[in-house]
Amino acid sequence: MKLKKSLVVLVSGLSVISACSSNSSNQTVVPEQNNVQQVSASATRGEKVVEIKLKKSKDDLMALNIKGFDLFGFDNKAKTIRARVSQDEETSLKSLNLTYKVMPEKNMTSKGLMTGYMSYAQMKDKLQALADKNPNIASLADIGDTWEKTQGKSPKNDIWCLTITNKEKKTKTAKPASLFIGGMHARELAPPEIMYKLAETLVSQYGKDPAITELVDTRDINIVPMVNVDGRIQVEQGNNWQRKNTHGQGVDLNRNFDSYWNYQGLKVPSSWIGSMTSPGSETYSGTAPASEPEVKAIQNYYNVKKINAVLDMHAYGEMFFWPVGYSDIPVPEAAIFKDLYENSFKKINYSGGTSLSLLYATTGSTDDYGYVKHKALGLGMEIGESFRPSYQEVETMWTQLKPGLLYIIKKSNIVL
Ligand SMILES: [Zn+2]
Repeated sequence: MKLKKSLVVLVSGLSVISACSSNSSNQTVVPEQNNVQQVSASATRGEKVVEIKLKKSKDDLMALNIKGFDLFGFDNKAKTIRARVSQDEETSLKSLNLTYKVMPEKNMTSKGLMTGYMSYAQMKDKLQALADKNPNIASLADIGDTWEKTQGKSPKNDIWCLTITNKEKKTKTAKPASLFIGGMHARELAPPEIMYKLAETLVSQYGKDPAITELVDTRDINIVPMVNVDGRIQVEQGNNWQRKNTHGQGVDLNRNFDSYWNYQGLKVPSSWIGSMTSPGSETYSGTAPASEPEVKAIQNYYNVKKINAVLDMHAYGEMFFWPVGYSDIPVPEAAIFKDLYENSFKKINYSGGTSLSLLYATTGSTDDYGYVKHKALGLGMEIGESFRPSYQEVETMWTQLKPGLLYIIKKSNIVL
């Protein structure tokens, strides 16, 4: 009974959640942190990347996160994670008794975009062309400004959303709306390309592929390939490691959403938020929930459309996430999410679960926001095996990911 009750109230209130944790039998053991390091390491980090072998996966990831490491590329099978480290952080790794090897990040020495990738400006033109050539099924909208544009700089930096649906085909009830997001983190190059390929495929195969025709007739599909436009342009200019937006030292947009922002409790210790409250950290969450215009743009879109499913695509690590990021206690609808996973990305050997169950806790994320605030299917992904795969690899990834993405669109009519 106790457990059942805790499931129902999981997302209904902070005080209740805190109370739940004391009853939970499978609670994560959190290592004691005596000296929480306030990190401003990004400025001192060079190009040195290490692959860390995790011993106690959960505890080690927690400890590394609390210390503010820039972590990426978790390999759930090999139990390794990568980090870009400063000299001090390398010393810190040794003090944590973790073994690691230096392993340069793929294609990081080639500055800017590699052959095959489109720039932000090219992407905007290509989305516009899709809409112009197919006005009956596609339309392009500017859904908001970036940080730089709100500051009177970079007047062209808008966030674009392509909506794909057969406008003439009416249905008895409103068509289920889904939202696909890429480019939240600027240095992750594959997701915007995959998002564009999804858009291009839906539009170009309409009337040719019966399954796609059915989706475009009966679903309202919204695709935002690049959210973090300011950060993206930094990458295009050769700042390959840029992850956050460009507000101050940068805000991690995927920690800035108005859903359990900077939350502590349950399985998230108070020391956890150290890295999120430190402006130099790669997971800095900003000064307030939805303080960033890019986040406001996405949140506002829920006022434009009743979004029933959201999928936020990141890189890298081959994982599929469902709510809630800060807990590994199943939400009441866990069976629905598990079913979605088993029929989509499990088929290409992606790991599936909540962020905490697979990796580490996340709060203030896009996918949780959709689930917690709008009862949408809140989904997240880490795709691929590097930040900067060759374009040929992106093509292969698209072939692998396409069936799962189309399946999510098909299932975007699920009501939670
Ligand atoms: Zn990311």
